[in-house]
Amino acid sequence: MEYELILRMIRDRFGAGEGDFVPLHAPTFSGNEKKYLDECIDSTFVSSVGAFVDRFERDIAEYTGARRAVVCVSGTNALHMALMLASVERDDEVLTQSLSFIATCNAISYIGAHPVFIDVDYDTMGLSPAALREWLEKHTVKDAGNVLRNKSTGRRVKSVVPMHTFGHPCRIDEIASICDEYCLELVEDAAESIGSFYKGKHTGTFGRIGAISFNGNKTITTGGGGMLLFNDEKLADLAKHLTTQAKVPSRWEFIHDHIGYNYRMPNINAALGCAQLEEISGFLASKRKTAEIYREFFASEPGGIKFMAEPTESVSNYWLNAIAFPTREERDRFLQYSNDHGVMTRPIWELMWHLPMFEHCERDSQTNTVLLADTIVNLPSSVKLES
Ligand SMILES: *Cc1c(COP(=O)(O)O)cnc(C)c1O
Repeated sequence: MEYELILRMIRDRFGAGEGDFVPLHAPTFSGNEKKYLDECIDSTFVSSVGAFVDRFERDIAEYTGARRAVVCVSGTNALHMALMLASVERDDEVLTQSLSFIATCNAISYIGAHPVFIDVDYDTMGLSPAALREWLEKHTVKDAGNVLRNKSTGRRVKSVVPMHTFGHPCRIDEIASICDEYCLELVEDAAESIGSFYKGKHTGTFGRIGAISFNGNKTITTGGGGMLLFNDEKLADLAKHLTTQAKVPSRWEFIHDHIGYNYRMPNINAALGCAQLEEISGFLASKRKTAEIYREFFASEPGGIKFMAEPTESVSNYWLNAIAFPTREERDRFLQYSNDHGVMTRPIWELMWHLPMFEHCERDSQTNTVLLADTIVNLPSSVKLES
């Protein structure tokens, strides 16, 4: 296949001329962003107190169907807090995928817990319930105190952190029922999947805790920011308390009853988030249209490049579109060509066990993980509003 044809199709979609750079994912500010930011500044409430923080939490809860939502400074903070709320402790093991952005493993490491890498499904690119079950059956045992332990390390296996890769939902209901069966806490890394639904339910709401990111490259952005999703009011109250320095309510006294965190999103970021969320249906429609253009193009393409369409029973937000090349060599040639010619593309993240911090972590066969890591390329996926 002529790579030039692919780049021409991408430039056409984004209305980019020959010499224009096409980014992978740029934010779009087309609604009330400036108005709400002005309101923040005029009111002087730009920091950790303000009406937009409460509103953003309510709006996200309503949008996702979570009972409660609690803002954080970043998606990474939200994941860290989520794991603490899941009672993950130092030296516990957390089952996750090595096909993820580094933040998932970093959050596990902040606690002093150990990631164990389970393979992903090829079609969803997210944690495989079959691989999860196989690892649990082979490698764990319940001790006399009914604690699930890794037979070889003796460590407690406490939690499972699946990730909805590029916005495609993984088989989260099956993963949730395995977690129930083994008494494992499900923490959903829904950082990339606002606007993605599995069997009609929003990602991040299948367990007791989920985490979303609003970093600048995500589907909607607050500049930097994250959100915890809860179905449990008490846990949400605790999250609110811990993310705000665990301060006991008082008009003037500084009493704190726990080691807390300054993880609360400032009002100015929440203002941006409220405006962005108002626009989300248009954003998602645009991203879906881009995905359709890509899907059709590669369906009739003779080079064996496969478009990674949304999995069955899912609605994907198509955060980052992905294609799979037949070989790593072809993938590399395309990455070189497209980036040399002003169209930003990138491979999937370096696998976690290729990085020095996580190279000693236990892992299963990683068959699909390695196949995807060798062949996937992300294509430009910014929102393109019709003018
Ligand atoms: C973006 C992302 C995060 C972290 O979000 P930040 O807001 O950048 O801290 C976590 N996990 C995954 C999979 C992500 O893509």
